[in-house]
Amino acid sequence: MINKTSAEGPGRRTALWVQGCSIRCRGCINPHLFSVSGGSLTSPAIVIESALAAGDEGLTLLGGEPLDQVEAVTNLARLAQDAGLGVICFTGYTMETIVASLPGKDLLRYVDLLIDGPYLAGAAEAERALVGSTNQRFIHLTDRYADYEPERTADQVELRILPTGEVSMAGFVTTQRLAELASALGARRSLKSSEHSSPRPI
Ligand code: SF4
Repeated sequence: MINKTSAEGPGRRTALWVQGCSIRCRGCINPHLFSVSGGSLTSPAIVIESALAAGDEGLTLLGGEPLDQVEAVTNLARLAQDAGLGVICFTGYTMETIVASLPGKDLLRYVDLLIDGPYLAGAAEAERALVGSTNQRFIHLTDRYADYEPERTADQVELRILPTGEVSMAGFVTTQRLAELASALGARRSLKSSEHSSPRPI
C-alpha cells in the first residue's frame, strides 16, 4: 500500500507499507500485513515519479517487513536517494542483525534514517513518537535527518475515508484515542489500521 503522508517522518512523504512480515511480533498493530498474500505490485520507478511529481521530501518504508523483500526495497531506496529524496526505513530486525547476517547491508547504503528493532509488547514507549517500544532505535545513517527524533507529543494520525466507506489510518495513535475516533466517526465496524498505529511497530 502506498499513501502520501505527513505522519511518518519529517515533511510530506510517500509511505510504502510492504506486504508480508516473517517476524510477527506479539501485539503488532499490523497483523493484516503478516501474510505475503495481498497487497499490490508497483514499479519502483512509478513510486519515485509520483513522489517527485508531488514534491515530497522523502520516502518512508514500513511494513510488513521491508527486509523480507530486500532486493526490491533496496532498488527503490537507491532510486529515491538518486532522485534527491530522503529515505526512512522501519524494520523489525536490529541493525546488528542486518549487518551480521542479512542481505540488507546494501539497503543501508541508501537509507538516511533506520528505525530498528521488533515491537516488544511489554516495553511500551512513552516518550518518543513513531515507535511503539523502548528497544526501537532511531539510527541516523546520514546527516539528512540528524536532528529528527520526535517526542510523543509530535505523534500525528491521518484518517482517510475511502470511496467504499472504509476508513484507513496512518500515523500513530493510542488505542484509547483510536476508539474515540472510531466512535466519533460512528464506525459500524472496527477501524482497520492499514498502517502504523499504537503501540507502534513498523
Ligand atoms: S512490528 Fe514490524 S516486525 Fe514486528 S510483526 Fe509488526 S510489522 Fe513485523
